[in-house]
Amino acid sequence: MKLTRKWQLLPVMMDFCLRRKFNINMKIKKAIVFLILLSVSLISYRAFCEELPEVGKVVWVDDGDTFVLEDGEKVRLLGINCPEKPHKDKPGECFGYEATRFAIKLLKRKKVRLEYDRIKRDRYHRLLAYVFLPSGEMANAIIVRKGFGYVLTVPPNKKYRARLLRAQRLALDENLGMWKHCKPEKEEYYYIGNLRSYIFHRPSCKFGKMTSSKNVITFSTRKQAFYQGFAPCRRCKP
Ligand SMILES: [Zn+2]
Repeated sequence: MKLTRKWQLLPVMMDFCLRRKFNINMKIKKAIVFLILLSVSLISYRAFCEELPEVGKVVWVDDGDTFVLEDGEKVRLLGINCPEKPHKDKPGECFGYEATRFAIKLLKRKKVRLEYDRIKRDRYHRLLAYVFLPSGEMANAIIVRKGFGYVLTVPPNKKYRARLLRAQRLALDENLGMWKHCKPEKEEYYYIGNLRSYIFHRPSCKFGKMTSSKNVITFSTRKQAFYQGFAPCRRCKP
C-alpha cells in the first residue's frame, strides 16, 4: 500500500520540478531579452543622437587620409583612400610617404569643418568626414586632384562621389603624383569590376569571381577602372 502511494506521488513531483525549471528558464530568457533590448537602444541612441563635431583643429596627421583633432577624435577622410606609408614591419605602398607629407602640409594646425554622410563612424570608431579647409576647399578632393590618393566609394556613403571622381579624372589626365610614379608589377588583359561595391579585381581573384553576373563590369585597363571610380581590391592588388 505504501509503495503504491509513492508511485502515485512521482508524476506530481516531476511536474513540480519541471515547472520550477521552466520558471527559471523563463526568468533567464526574460533577462536576456531585456539586456539585448537595452544594448540595442543604447547603440541606436549613440548612433542617432550623438552630437558629432562640426569644426575642429587638426593636431596630428597619421597618414594621407587620417588625422586627429584637438579633442582627440580620429578622423578618416571619406570617399578616398591614400597609399599606406611603411609601418613597423609592413613595407608600405608606393607614394605612401609622399601622401602623408602632403596631408601634413594640407591639414596640420588648420581649423577644419567636417561634413558627414550616412554612415558616420567606421569599425575603429573613427569619424568619417568630408573635410573643408578655411579656404572652403575640400581636402578629400584636393588630395585626389593632386594624385596623392584615389576615389574609394563605400556605399551608402556616396554624397560627393561625382565631385571626387571629377578631381580624379583630371589627375589621371595630367598624370600627376601616384599616377605617374606608381605602376603595378603586372598588367592584366582585363579587370573585373563590381558595380555594387565599386571595387575592381584581377581576373584570377576569387573575390572578383564571386561577383554576381548582374553586377559585373569589365575594364580593359587599370586606368579605365580608376577613370570610372572603381578602387583596387585589397587582396589581389590589381
Ligand atoms: Zn580581388
